Amino acid sequence: MKRGLFLSIAVAAGVFMTVTLAQAKTQFVTIGTGGITGVYYPTGGAIAKMVNKKKKEYGLRATVESTGGSVFNVNAVMNGDLEFGVVQSDRQYQAMEGLAEWKEKGPQKDLRAVFSIHPESVTLAAAVDAGAKDIRDLKGKRVNLGNPGSGQRQNAIDAFTAVGIDPEKDIIAEGIKASEAPGILQDGRIDAFFYTVGHPSGAFKEATSGARKVRFVSITGIDDLLKKFPYYAKSVIPVAMYPGAQNDADVPTFGVKATLVTSVKVPDDVVYAITKEVFDNFEEFKKLHPAYSTLTKEAMLDGLSAPIHPGAMKYYKEAGLMK
Ligand code: GLU
Repeated sequence: MKRGLFLSIAVAAGVFMTVTLAQAKTQFVTIGTGGITGVYYPTGGAIAKMVNKKKKEYGLRATVESTGGSVFNVNAVMNGDLEFGVVQSDRQYQAMEGLAEWKEKGPQKDLRAVFSIHPESVTLAAAVDAGAKDIRDLKGKRVNLGNPGSGQRQNAIDAFTAVGIDPEKDIIAEGIKASEAPGILQDGRIDAFFYTVGHPSGAFKEATSGARKVRFVSITGIDDLLKKFPYYAKSVIPVAMYPGAQNDADVPTFGVKATLVTSVKVPDDVVYAITKEVFDNFEEFKKLHPAYSTLTKEAMLDGLSAPIHPGAMKYYKEAGLMK
C-alpha cells in the first residue's frame, strides 16, 4: 500500500517536472490586434515574425489574435488575457488617465508602453449618393461610429461633437465592427463609416472598389479639438492609395499613432526580446507593410503616455536611443 502510494507520488512528480520543463522551454505570448482588414492585424504578424525567428534563442513564441481594437486590447492586457496589444496613442493616454472608456474603472496603472508604430488617420468614407463632402454634411445620415471595443468609436464621437453634431441625436449611429462596415456600406445599409487606421488598409480598398461609389469625407473645422486633445494631430488621407475612391485630392482629417502596449506583469526578458528584434531588424520590419514607409526608430519612441516597460527601456538604453 505504502509502496503504491510512493510510486504514484513519484510518477506525479515526474509528470509535473516534465510539464514544467516543457513550459520553461517555450513561453507563449499573444498580441491583440484588430480586424483582419485593418493594419493592426498585419502589424501584430510583423512583430511576431521578427521575434519568432529567434524562437529557440529566446524560448519565446508570439502569436496574433484578431480583436475588436484598441479599447478591447487595453482591457485584455490589463486583465491578463493578452500579453501585448496594439492600441491607438490617444486610447493609451485615456486609459492611463482613467478617462473616456476608463472613466468608471479609473486609471490603468499597470499599463506599460513598448513602442509606437505607424500613423493612423481618423478616416471617414461615405457613399457618393449620400452627398457628403465634409463631416458636417452627415447630419441626419446613418453613420457607423465603430464597435465599442474599437479606437475609432471615441474619435468619431469627438469629431462630430467638435463640429456641433450630437452623435446621439443628429445622426443615426451604428456600432458595427470596421471589418463589416464596407460590406454594409455597399449594401446600402449605412451612408458612411469611420475607421481610425493606417493606410493603405484592406477595409478601404474593399469599401472603394464596389458598385456603390464611395468617397473620403473631410473632417475640418476641428482646431479647437486639436487644441483640447494634444494627442490628436492634423493628417490627410492619401487618396492615391485607393484608385476606386471618388476624390481627386488628399482629404484633410486628424490622426493618432498605433502603439504597442503591455502590462507591468509581463516579464522584462519577454518585452526586451520583442523590442530588440523589431529595432535590430528595423529595415526588414519596415518592409512588412506600406504604412511603415515613414517610420524612424526615433519616431517609434514618441506618442507613449504610459511608462515604458523596463524590458523595452533596457534595450533603448543599450542601443543609445534613450538615456
Ligand atoms: N485603430 C483601430 C482601433 O483601435 C484599429 C485599426 C487597425 O486594426 O488597423 O480599433
